[in-house]
Amino acid sequence: MNRPVRVRFAPSPTGPLHIGGVRTALYNYLFARHHGGTMILRIEDTDSQRFVPGAEDYIIESLKWCGIEIDEGVGVGGPHAPYRQSERREIYLKYALQLVESGWAYYAFDTADELETLRKQYEEQGKTFAYNYEVRETLPTSLSLSAEEVQARIERGDRWVIRFKMPAHETVKMHDLIRGDVEVDTSTLDDKVLYKSADALPTYHLANIVDDRLMEVSHVIRGEEWLPSLPLHYLLYKAFGWEKEQPEFAHLPLLLKPTGGGKLSKRDGDKMGFPVFPLYWVSPATGETAHGYREDGYFPEAFINMLALLGWNPGTEQELFSMQELIELFSLDRVSKSGARFQPEKARWFNAQYMHRKSESELAALYQPILKAHGVETSDELAGKAAWIMRERATFITDLWDLTSFFFVAPTEYEEKQSKKYWKGENPAILRELREVLASIDDFSLENTEHIVHSWIEEKGYGMGQVMNTLRLALVGAGKGPGMYDVTSFIGKDETLRRIDNLFANLQPAQ
Ligand code: GLU
Repeated sequence: MNRPVRVRFAPSPTGPLHIGGVRTALYNYLFARHHGGTMILRIEDTDSQRFVPGAEDYIIESLKWCGIEIDEGVGVGGPHAPYRQSERREIYLKYALQLVESGWAYYAFDTADELETLRKQYEEQGKTFAYNYEVRETLPTSLSLSAEEVQARIERGDRWVIRFKMPAHETVKMHDLIRGDVEVDTSTLDDKVLYKSADALPTYHLANIVDDRLMEVSHVIRGEEWLPSLPLHYLLYKAFGWEKEQPEFAHLPLLLKPTGGGKLSKRDGDKMGFPVFPLYWVSPATGETAHGYREDGYFPEAFINMLALLGWNPGTEQELFSMQELIELFSLDRVSKSGARFQPEKARWFNAQYMHRKSESELAALYQPILKAHGVETSDELAGKAAWIMRERATFITDLWDLTSFFFVAPTEYEEKQSKKYWKGENPAILRELREVLASIDDFSLENTEHIVHSWIEEKGYGMGQVMNTLRLALVGAGKGPGMYDVTSFIGKDETLRRIDNLFANLQPAQ
């Protein structure tokens, strides 16, 4: 059917959004943009017991950070507002009653205690209780009670729910854009609750189907965990007489633990040192915290790039994609059926790739706050230059301080290993000579200094490594850092000479 592409990301605000949820949002967004369609954000908050304050804001902020733009929905508005299900509560009862009327649903009056007793009885006989076609007519429902009794119970305020009357022994034939044709025998399914009088709210299934219809959703792209609900959803479309308008479905593969089997969990992240949430999170109930990609120093572009490839592939060897490229290339037929294994080292690899591709001015802007936090006041030019020189050794912006601090701060201590090795024998005397050579140079540019010092070393017949490592000890205080002329040209002549003098003043040569 040719209709405008309208997709929705429909999270429940039950806690921080898992990266699997971000991937669902991303694939919806890529699909929408690829087809010139509309991306909707609907908040499914009808389960008041699982509602977590702050979770909705967290979801919205996560999507913003990732660059996933919402065209219609919570926080944006649109022709089908409101987009928060708790604000649409009046809508749903009518639809639940319509199904009772047409025989697709029924009232059930069992209390939680009664159901618990039944469950126990079944268990004692080694069976599992299911509310289904076998038992529904023996239970207090509008299928077993008279119409008057049902009416009386409702009027006297008894609690009721409306359940879907799952047909017995029918085959539901479904189509999934990723998995192909799927069939299910309805006798394996139970009669799901659609609406509860207790809080006058629909359950997920009813609200989800009604809203997808009212919001004219064309494609439902969601996690594999919803596949078992698909037969019910198909039958709900049928029951409402909306088969023609029914959206197409695509169920995305699970994100698996780095070790393989099983769904990726927060525990895996804690154990192996990677976040499973996009942003840092503090639980309002317990104060428990969770790491986030943003706060752990990942670039949103790297995070998105990594997520895009967890379950989708472009069919080529290319691994780095901008959002625009992903939009152009994305298609559901390249989404895999099998679970995608999360690899923490690959996440870091993606970040490093984006780090290496940043421009000097981008690096300056990202690095300045870290320099400030270390008490370094410097120009954007120098911040950018230092970061640029060392960027290829960094995975995260925060790595840059360790890699570049000596550009801004003279060493006050000298690494023992390096000192023992080089601050001895004839090296102090050679460094004194080198100081004179350096002091005589007017043009302290990288090339000129390198040229003059190298000619001098050759002329004297000194060992290159020996001289350079002794100089490194003076300028960096350790055996790390870039080429020495990167350092001399960066800190300038006066500072170079001062650091050499400092070494003589502060460290006795080894015997
Ligand atoms: N509210 C559901 C969730 O949290 C939405 C599932 C769907 O997209 O149908 O995942």
